Amino acid sequence: MRASPSRIKTFGDCANQYKYKYILELEGDSFNALTVVGSVFHYAVEVYEQYDHDIDLAVKTLRYYWNHLDELDLRIDSYPKRTSHQGLEDHAVEMLERYHQLTPWKGGELVGTEITFEVPLGPHVLRGIIDKVFARPEANEIQVIDFKTGYKVPQKLRHNIQFTSYMYATSRPEFWGQVPGYEQSYERFINYKRIGQWYHARNNKMFNAGYRDDSDYRRLLLAVDQMEASIENDIYPLTIEGEVCGWCPWVEICGTEVESPNTDLAER
Ligand code: SF4
Repeated sequence: MRASPSRIKTFGDCANQYKYKYILELEGDSFNALTVVGSVFHYAVEVYEQYDHDIDLAVKTLRYYWNHLDELDLRIDSYPKRTSHQGLEDHAVEMLERYHQLTPWKGGELVGTEITFEVPLGPHVLRGIIDKVFARPEANEIQVIDFKTGYKVPQKLRHNIQFTSYMYATSRPEFWGQVPGYEQSYERFINYKRIGQWYHARNNKMFNAGYRDDSDYRRLLLAVDQMEASIENDIYPLTIEGEVCGWCPWVEICGTEVESPNTDLAER
């Protein structure tokens, strides 16, 4: 099957949500402003990296697209309580300015930003985009960075499978063949350790996602094997904890496809 880190994450959060989003392709109720501000922030960071760390240009880009969302094919249907369009824009600009000042970006060798990859994973294909990759020869490390702009701060990242997917991709020769300027670099980095960092833009903090090795990549393969088996058999268990339901665009329709368990009471 064709998998991606974001699809694996959605499946892990709630397989039923995966069904609504990717199998039935239901549009969902809303585009939350927090999700949209994250997309615009990512775009502004890309401009920042492409144009020599020009923070003024990045800020202008962010403000422009935040007010012309249709040009990025985005829209906002709802704002969380106690937020406003202008307030979120100002907050995103602050995040960008803090990002500009953060020292971890200054060292090492920047391999690339927004790197699109497609690599084999056993019988599957794994496709995705990595926000940022650094080579750190002094530490013998390839560092994979993922940006997050939401409120939630992760509790445990060591076994986070989205990060495992990114780090696995960098362990493949096909990945390096797809990075401009690094097409011949697979051999150079073959013995580097892979480490992940989760950059939480909202409070300008890095969270260590830890190292990954072959045992993690085997678990990733097992996860995608099992995803494929579930999809083939049309089995999509919904999240038991319910932790992601509050953010789910399909919360209003979830469950409406089955009859109410209280139907027998209504008939009395
Ligand atoms: S409302 Fe909750 S259980 Fe239903 S699809 Fe969304 S996340 Fe899954």
